[in-house]
Amino acid sequence: MADSVILSPGAAIGILGSGQLGRMIAMAAARLGIRCVVYAPESGPACDVAAETIIAGYEDEAALARLAALVGVVTYEFENVPAHTAEFLAARLPVRPGPSALATTQDRAVEKRFLNDLGIPTAPFLEVDDAAGLERALATLGRPAILKTRRFGYDGKGQIMIREGMDVAESWAALGGAPCILEGLVPFTREVSVVGARSLDGSFAAFDVCENAHENHILALTTVPARMAAETAGEAVAMAARIAGALEYVGVISVEMFHVVDSAGERLVVNEIAPRVHNSGHWTTDGAVTSQFEQHVRAVCGWPLGSTRRHGRVEMRNLIGRQADDWAALLAEPGACVHLYGKHEARAGRKMGHVTRIFPE
Ligand code: AMP
Repeated sequence: MADSVILSPGAAIGILGSGQLGRMIAMAAARLGIRCVVYAPESGPACDVAAETIIAGYEDEAALARLAALVGVVTYEFENVPAHTAEFLAARLPVRPGPSALATTQDRAVEKRFLNDLGIPTAPFLEVDDAAGLERALATLGRPAILKTRRFGYDGKGQIMIREGMDVAESWAALGGAPCILEGLVPFTREVSVVGARSLDGSFAAFDVCENAHENHILALTTVPARMAAETAGEAVAMAARIAGALEYVGVISVEMFHVVDSAGERLVVNEIAPRVHNSGHWTTDGAVTSQFEQHVRAVCGWPLGSTRRHGRVEMRNLIGRQADDWAALLAEPGACVHLYGKHEARAGRKMGHVTRIFPE
């Protein structure tokens, strides 16, 4: 279907997924007069703020057809939307970003080949389909190396670091025999991300490069701007723009990168692409003229993108698990912008909220 649909205020968009990202998209949409219908197999934080909710499986074609009848455009807040779901919807109405963005980013091998074909560096990698293949790949890439499932990995799940002395068959078995890639280790100085948006007319606007620190494989702290040469930051944004253009992307795209600083200078290696708004972009709600969520709504509605200008030096801390118990103290802190996702149970490792602090530059 030719995708040139432009929505008007008062229209509705469908969001696949009911997590906090969908919640924040729906809140930004409401401010611009757009209603959101959240579609997910389970109720979640997005349902509290949606105009309507459809609780149904991603294979339920009758329910998907109901969604398609209610909204002008469909988007999603997570990258593992089944291909069939995206295609079923795309045959009926615009899905933004399109199904090809999902197909490319759901499989680490496909994604890395796509990046390398664009001339964008990634970690060295080899596809691995069995223990013997892992043995061969380790002989080529050396140890330590990281074995990652091609699909469904997140927050460090679906991957293991293979060090000297570790048994190959056991390492292979640890990931359940799923198709994998083995990646060589990138000696990075820091991890950064570009959160940007591509509009229906092909223009691209990125926020300043974010610097990300993880704890237990989960994003803990984002600071902006990232500590890197202005030229390197420009390259990071140019890479993200090239990726978005090649995917004919519409919406917010996030590109996670390793920043390598060594005797040869600075360089960037792309780790992965998230075809959605991103945790490292949460600071934009308080710290930029336009939030990543509003930017996503603007893009998927076919509207002009907003200014990505930053209000100051920014720090965004995730509230993971019991860290959210400090909510009252955080609320009492002058200048702290507190966001809570309304999740009832503070399970370990669960993202419960975040707090953004803005400082003069
Ligand atoms: P991922 O699931 O690919 O985002 O990986 C999770 C984390 O593991 C990254 O944020 C890095 O801290 C680390 N990591 C992943 N791949 C590599 C690599 N090739 N070299 C070094 N560190 C890596």
